[in-house]
Amino acid sequence: MSVAARSPAVRSVSLWRPRTARMGVPRVRMAVQSNLVSIAPMLTKLQRDCATPLPVLRHVADAMADDMRAGLAVDGGSDLKMILSYVDSLPTVNEKGLFYALDLGGTNFRVLRVQLGGKDERVIATEFDQVSIPQDLMFRTTEDLFDFIASGLAKFAQKEGGKFHLAQGRMREIGFTFSFPVKQTSIDAGILIKWTKGFAVSGTAGKDVVACLNEAMERQGLNMCVSALVNDTVGTLAGARYWDDDVMVAVILGTGTNACYVERVDAIPKLQGLKSTSGRTIVNTEWGAFSNGLPLTEYDREMDVESINPGEQIFEKTISGMYLGEIVRRVLVKMAEAGALFGERVPEKLSTPFVLGTPHISAMQQDNSKDLQAVGSILYDVAGVAAGAPTNVPLPCTSSLCRINYFPNLGCLGTKSGTGRSSFRKSSVTQCQVNSDLSARRIVVEVCDTLAKRGGRLAGAGIVGILQKMEEDSKGTISGKRTVVAMDGGLYEHYPQYRRYLQDAVTELLGSELSKNVVIEHSKDGSGIGAALLAATNSKYKH
Ligand code: ADP
Ligand code: MG
Repeated sequence: MSVAARSPAVRSVSLWRPRTARMGVPRVRMAVQSNLVSIAPMLTKLQRDCATPLPVLRHVADAMADDMRAGLAVDGGSDLKMILSYVDSLPTVNEKGLFYALDLGGTNFRVLRVQLGGKDERVIATEFDQVSIPQDLMFRTTEDLFDFIASGLAKFAQKEGGKFHLAQGRMREIGFTFSFPVKQTSIDAGILIKWTKGFAVSGTAGKDVVACLNEAMERQGLNMCVSALVNDTVGTLAGARYWDDDVMVAVILGTGTNACYVERVDAIPKLQGLKSTSGRTIVNTEWGAFSNGLPLTEYDREMDVESINPGEQIFEKTISGMYLGEIVRRVLVKMAEAGALFGERVPEKLSTPFVLGTPHISAMQQDNSKDLQAVGSILYDVAGVAAGAPTNVPLPCTSSLCRINYFPNLGCLGTKSGTGRSSFRKSSVTQCQVNSDLSARRIVVEVCDTLAKRGGRLAGAGIVGILQKMEEDSKGTISGKRTVVAMDGGLYEHYPQYRRYLQDAVTELLGSELSKNVVIEHSKDGSGIGAALLAATNSKYKH
């Protein structure tokens, strides 16, 4: 049963917004190479380079388990930071009162309030709001970003009413979900190690993000306080655990990716004397930084080199939502250049980094129509590639000439300054020679599938790595009993093929018997409620 099925949500909003270039100035390709090669061998090579047969999966799972151990032994011991969460008591269901959660993820920030009614009433009511983060704020100052967040929170708090009641004499307490690598120093403080997922906000690295939020709330005149700073994986684990005692691992597959799990305190050598009342604590693996033995392609390497964090977050760049669409775009550009995938010209719009999002590739994979109509219209909307057979007739037109000299009034679908859809005429498309026939659309879907398959299967291998580590350290933790892995994030939620590939890899690795005990379960928006629950378990009024 879905963990989230029992937690009410007041409304849902659209999650997707297009992301534009983040990795420097797009390279403009005006013409295809003259030595056209067939696309089929390129596709075969891509599939070979992305292949994840069982030995590769096994290696990834083993390496993940080894890296976890090395990261637990000493800070800096491996790619995996294995950050201590300071969460050693999970929600008990006895929590009562009004609590807020604030979730800064990557694409959006979310605010949520929940009225908790204790063992009998559990979650009496929740309400949430979601705001997408303006692109420019990702590159501005700490104050700009946190002021924007605090003002969103202030607007949301003003609308409180109905079933929500704050106990007298209390401040509104917040569970702050902050999904970037943080060196936690206590349950309500943590230093940002570095931004990831395309964020490059100046002045935040090395600072306590709770202090940054508190200062912004003060500037807004907002009388609220942070009682728990949690990673989104930790929030998801806490939220899912509230409904199901068997939840031991949580994984986020959204813009970025991460995983956390319940660890025995005595299995953490680097802890050195830190006490835990329960003998267990949640460890945030920061597995996005994992890199050992991944099957990577030339497209991954190029994307990494041009990224704002080259050489970092390689697992994240291979499996998470921010990057899958971009890798597909790079493959398609290469196929258009070297194999004339869309006719004689390379669609200019397709040269813009991140113009093709993971929601697009997922949507293309859902197209079951005979002529792949939806694929055609997505290629048209995103890249100006019109449906129809590519022509091989050489024309004296480049995209820029097209709009300046030859077809000034038609609008070229291959250019940014084209007059767009409304002015579309078949003749202009034919002249510009960027169109897709059915076989091209089939290849596009194959490319999407290849990257989704690699991503999903590697994510599955990562999960098995965590389970393996837990089982190797204490026999019986996983085998012989039900264990739940709580999943959340837009990629996992909205990409069914990816989800299936992930589950397949877990089953292949664990074998049919053991995998029956491992339940991989979507915990929708669990992290929001989870963070609010952790604010309740760590309430300032209990200490
Ligand atoms: P965040 O990770 O920013 O907290 P989400 O968990 O909502 O936010 O994940 C958003 C990400 O999920 C998007 O950046 C996108 O990569 C991915 N995503 C959203 N919608 C879809 C979709 N329909 N298909 C595949 N991936 C999607
Ligand atoms: Mg998130």
